[in-house]
Amino acid sequence: MAELFAGKEIFTVGDLLRFYPSGYECFEEETEAARAEAGAFCTLRLKITGPASTFRKGSRTITHVDAADRSGRVRLTFFNMPYVRQTLGTGGPFVFRGILRKTGAGSLFMEQPWFADEARYEKLKGTLQPQYPVIRGIGPDRMRGLLKAALESVEGMRDPLPQKMRDRVRLLSRHEALTGIHFPKDRLILEQARRRLIFEEFFSFIVGMRRQKLEEGERLNPDPMTDRPEWVSQLLGSLPYALTAGQAQAWEEIRADLTGPVLMNRLLQGDVGSGKTIMAFLALVLTAQNGRQGALMAPTEVLARQHMEDFCSCMEKSGLPVRAVLLTGSVKGKARREALARIENGGAHVVIGTHALFQEAVRFHDLGLVVTDEQHRFGVRQRTGLAEKGEDVPVLVMSATPIPRTLAIVLYGDLQVSSLRELPPGRTPIQSLALPDTQRGRAYKFILSQIRQGRQCYVICPAVEEGEIQEIENVADYTEKLRASLPEDLRIASLTGRMSPMEKTSVMDRFAAGDADLLVSTTVIEVGINVPNATVILIENAERFGLSQLHQLRGRVGRGTAKSYCIFLYSGKEKPQRLCVLEKNADGFSIAEQDLKTRGPGDLFGVRQSGMPQFALADLYEDADLLKEASVCADEILREDPSFRYDGERRVDLSTI
Ligand code: ADP
Ligand code: MG
Repeated sequence: MAELFAGKEIFTVGDLLRFYPSGYECFEEETEAARAEAGAFCTLRLKITGPASTFRKGSRTITHVDAADRSGRVRLTFFNMPYVRQTLGTGGPFVFRGILRKTGAGSLFMEQPWFADEARYEKLKGTLQPQYPVIRGIGPDRMRGLLKAALESVEGMRDPLPQKMRDRVRLLSRHEALTGIHFPKDRLILEQARRRLIFEEFFSFIVGMRRQKLEEGERLNPDPMTDRPEWVSQLLGSLPYALTAGQAQAWEEIRADLTGPVLMNRLLQGDVGSGKTIMAFLALVLTAQNGRQGALMAPTEVLARQHMEDFCSCMEKSGLPVRAVLLTGSVKGKARREALARIENGGAHVVIGTHALFQEAVRFHDLGLVVTDEQHRFGVRQRTGLAEKGEDVPVLVMSATPIPRTLAIVLYGDLQVSSLRELPPGRTPIQSLALPDTQRGRAYKFILSQIRQGRQCYVICPAVEEGEIQEIENVADYTEKLRASLPEDLRIASLTGRMSPMEKTSVMDRFAAGDADLLVSTTVIEVGINVPNATVILIENAERFGLSQLHQLRGRVGRGTAKSYCIFLYSGKEKPQRLCVLEKNADGFSIAEQDLKTRGPGDLFGVRQSGMPQFALADLYEDADLLKEASVCADEILREDPSFRYDGERRVDLSTI
């Protein structure tokens, strides 16, 4: 038995009690056969009216039993269960549960029903019986018996939540809650039990997080920067625009962090195109004026190069003496050695790069700031990896996948959050349209009309995964097809994930310079590319992408002043719900909420790598109210008693029950 349980990671009584039912079976009143709805699940109380007949058909045995109640007859059929003949005999009544069907001739029958004798059913009636995820070798009745025993063995268990708090938040005791979730007397109790257990999941998580912070203490900024406004003002003065109110506030927050006593650990979130890059540049410039180095890390080589170009052009226009080096996987040989040397001797003030930045060989002269762009692409481990290059380095994390604030507190408990909620002025909203792929021709026509007006377009076809080549258009094939259906003079470029970073960059450069009208690509262009003249993005197989990813892709257009369009093509008859959300919704914050609802936070953030907690019952989105309540309670308790620890574990060996 222990072995069977081990397969589900159940080792102790506690583990078993937390093996929550996946659903409940409700044993309702019996109905009369003639009144039951054919085709529906129903419960009948029937007497057996004649001896069963069993015969073989192929490899199975089929047993027919004739039964009836006052209202009519029902034929029961069992497969490979010849012994029901003895069990049922000619007695009864028994209670049968299953789907009642009608033959063409109008007689009723039920296949493979569940059944119990009258007395047993009387006991079950009106109760909710737990159903557990299947553990091979332990049947449902045995499982229920074991859980009853487990519950009895911990009667009078200590409750890790203080009584005072339970009273105030109106929570069941732990034993009541565990009993309620496994063997609920009714739906009300079940609801209360869930509430208590969800609260406890949140509470223990938050207390743990706060404890860690208390024990580590607030990390102090070992070397606050001097708040010197000159270079920052000079950069701001050279921009062709003024900061939006949101940007101005975010910069205030970042500046205060860098020059203040507490070490910066800030998340800057804002929709695609909300202007996060300039925030990073300001922070890097302030760092440089303080004589220290800053690192800016991007998730892709293409994006790193683009940041490098933007940064250098900003420095040129503003005349600031800040020198940057690029360090990515494709910077090799002599160039790499030189870059590394300049990072180490302090000749470079700003280092822009990809993951390569973390690699062993990189030693900073005096690292004073780490900025990571498009954070949701990195795991938390990588984030800290770079921060560890220097001791206690301020960190700014930028993300275009905005998350609701309540969630940010849980997901990144240790982060401060700044949000850019508005886009810079002068942008016309992107018009989005989802079409079945049978209307591809219409979409192409539209693209052509935009190109004839001097605009450029993106077409996204999904990356080719192994074994899927027949199903999905691969970039090369797709490009050929596209060429065939559009006039010959169109200049079509294509980009795939398999190209080397150099090749990718050269294709992107060509497109950015306007030397191609159409760029066919996989999702490698998802992040950060900025071509203001591109006004249409067509996304093939849109049903294969998640909400956030589609929103990100859409953000590739709408970057200039001209009106932009996003066309989602989906295969299949029905328009996926996600696409309806995107058609109606342009705001990343509310899309993120929707994404959370439909996919759960796991997919959105790549949970496993980012170390987000997995809750057994709680749903971060649905139970957001309880999350807040638990967070307030945790804070109060720790204030009253800083030594408070949540201790929900009592290890009882399974073999004792
Ligand atoms: P993201 O937040 O997606 O990284 P970017 O930083 O790439 O967005 O900004 C998108 C575009 O908006 C860039 O071309 C940038 O120059 C421009 N931009 C940024 N801030 C402003 C502003 N306050 N007013 C006008 N344009 C701005
Ligand atoms: Mg960006």
